[in-house]
This record gives sequence, structure tokens and C-alpha cells, in this order.
Amino acid sequence: MTTNTAQNKPIGQDGYAALMEITNRPGIIFNRGEGAWLWDSEGKRYLDFIQGWAVNCLGHCPTVISDALAAQSRQLINCSPAYYNDPMIRYAQALAGASGLERCFLANSGAEANEGAIKLARKWGALHRGGAYEIITTAHGFHGRTLATMSASGKTGWDRLFEPKVPGFPKVPLNDLDAVAAAINGKTAAVMLEPIQGEAGVWPATDSYLKGLRELTERHGILLILDEIQTGMARTGKMFCFEHTGIRPDIMTLGKGIGAGTPLAALMAREDVCCFEPGDQGGTYNGNALMAAVGLAVFQALSAPGFLDQVNAASRHLIQGLEALSAKHGLGGVRGKGLLLALDMGQQQNPPANAIATAERALQNGLLLNAPGPTCLRFIPALNVSVAEIDAMLAILDASLR
Ligand SMILES: *Cc1c(COP(=O)(O)O)cnc(C)c1O
Repeated sequence: MTTNTAQNKPIGQDGYAALMEITNRPGIIFNRGEGAWLWDSEGKRYLDFIQGWAVNCLGHCPTVISDALAAQSRQLINCSPAYYNDPMIRYAQALAGASGLERCFLANSGAEANEGAIKLARKWGALHRGGAYEIITTAHGFHGRTLATMSASGKTGWDRLFEPKVPGFPKVPLNDLDAVAAAINGKTAAVMLEPIQGEAGVWPATDSYLKGLRELTERHGILLILDEIQTGMARTGKMFCFEHTGIRPDIMTLGKGIGAGTPLAALMAREDVCCFEPGDQGGTYNGNALMAAVGLAVFQALSAPGFLDQVNAASRHLIQGLEALSAKHGLGGVRGKGLLLALDMGQQQNPPANAIATAERALQNGLLLNAPGPTCLRFIPALNVSVAEIDAMLAILDASLR
């Protein structure tokens, strides 16, 4: 489990050594970005189809953000979460109006928003369901890297890390409604899942499963929590992924694209679920004016007339191109929604095409591409990616698959 690759790097000469080793970083230093493009310290240009892991939904350095940051930083950056500020109020209203979930808690990261969701569900269970605290989550799900959110996640290999875990997160396989029904008992407070499992490799919950979950949770009087940190904020072609199915969760978490590259997240909940009392929940930067103003500007850009149409048009073009490459190279096809897509590497080839090796070749060819594992590539470009940029990506991918 300890993969220390420090030996491969010229540590000591360039200051890499001052950073904790938390991931395998290639020896590239990025120092400029614009739209779909990044430049490294040698001046080499890269096409970015990772965009901070589905985060930079308006591309690199959009003026929407720099303008909002500059304007708000001259007005008010931060007072204290113990006071109201103007952007905090207007932003919460905007998110509540769009989602139909009446109340909002602003946070700094997805994991923090999910921690809030878990705490809210536990408090609700303590008050309204005789002390119920269990939250049923899914195998291979991903909810973040704090201790509770790692415990809620079903990522392979994590079950043995940082023991003892936070208890109370029984796991069920995705898209198996009977398994959820069998896991519900007197201790159950909620069911929590991603509408599309992003980190696991873009595995969608089916419409009938989500509808069934809504019905099942209502029947048992327990909460449905959707982690829309990756799928929310127009990523799947609607503002929130749950809109595709016509259901609404009781609690929803947002992150990643919500700040378009700046640290922002949100916990949304139905009015009658909100049972936090003063002191239960908070944090130094929650609802600070600077980030709330940026979030509002990003939200307005995503809600502009025609924006979702453009996301869906880009999605269709990308799906078509990926399906053509899949047929040409004998791969396993495309899955996902909107601009959260995966190309399955398939089993036809011998040896099977490897996504990690393909992503490494793509990087050398000037393309940032994410391989969540060896069996698939994930495509999470900026939501305003152009047809020409998609075509440029497909050409580099074609060359990198050979
Ligand atoms: C990225 C992600 C998280 C964690 O968000 P952080 O901002 O990294 O804490 C949680 N859930 C899902 C579905 C995610 O994709």
C-alpha cells in the first residue's frame, strides 16, 4: 500500500521534497491556464480534459471568477460565520430556488459538505427515529477523505485504512434495490449515494433504481441523501443530476464545479429535515463573503439561457467521437451522462487496452486525461469546451490508443 516514488524524482534540487507524498505526480510543473489549455514551466501546451477532476466547469481562469473575486475582495472578504453577509444570503437563495431544497449550509470542500450531511442525518435520526444513526451507502461509492466520509465510501482497499473506522455505514451493491430493502432496520436513518459513481469509473445509478429508492425511503420514513458533488452544477446536462429522474432527495451535497476551481461546497436540505441547533455545525470559512460571491457568479453563468443546451450539444459530439474510437480500436463503449463520460477499455483486445498506460501516452502527447483505473478513461472537460477542442482531444486519444 505504501507506494513511495520519491526515489524517481530529483528531490533536493528543486524543492519537491518539501511536499508530502500523497499521490504519484508526474515531474511537470504547471504555471498557466486559459480555457481548455494549460502550459508547463517549459512552455509546453496541454489540452486539459481533467480540469481539476470535473472542477473547473468554466475552464481555466474564467473572467467570471476573476471579476467576481476582484469586485468582492474590494467590498468585503470575510467577517465571521456568526454574522450574515450579503453574498451569503443571495447565494443560498439562488441554490435553494434551483434545487427545491429550502436550506443551505456553505462549506469549503465536498468532504466537509458530506460530513455535514452525515451529521444532519444522525441528528435527525436521534430526534425523529428513536436514535437511528446508520446510513446505508454503496460499494465502490466515493464521498471524500475525512474519517467519516472514508468510512461512508466503498472504495477498494479503504476498508483496512486508518482503523478503527467511523461505524454505521453498511454497504450495498449499486442498482440493487432488494439489497437496500434488506439492509433497512430500526437503526437506519438514511440511504446515501452518488447518482453516478464518479471516482469508481462513471457507473450510473439507473432511473428505476433512483425512483425505487425514493419510494422505499419514503415508505420506511428514512432520508435519501444524494452526493451530487461530481454530478451537480450542470455536469450531466441538467443543473442537478436528480432532475433526469424526476425525484428529489431530502439532502444533497454539492462541490467541485460549484466553485469552478475555487474552494466551495454546499449542503442542501429540505426545510423539515433541518434540525441543527446553534453549535452543532459550523466552520471558520463557512459562508465567507468572498467565496459566496464567486459561487453566485458561477451559478449565474451556469444558469444563463442556452448554457445547458451547449453542454448537451458538446456531450453528444463527445459521445459520438468516443463511440467511433471505441469501434475502431475494439474497446468496450461509452457510459455516463452530459460531460461526465467514460470510455470502457473492454476485453476484446489481447492484452486488453490499459487506460493508465493510455493516459500516460496522452500526457506525453499533450493531453491531460484521467484513468480512474486500468479499465476505463474518464472525460470531465470544462462545460464550455468547444467542438474544435473535443476534436483535438479525439485525435490525440486516437494516437495514444495505438
Ligand atoms: C470529489 C468528491 C468528493 C470529495 O470532495 P472534496 O472536495 O475532494 O472533499 C465527494 N463525493 C464525490 C462524489 C466526489 O466526486
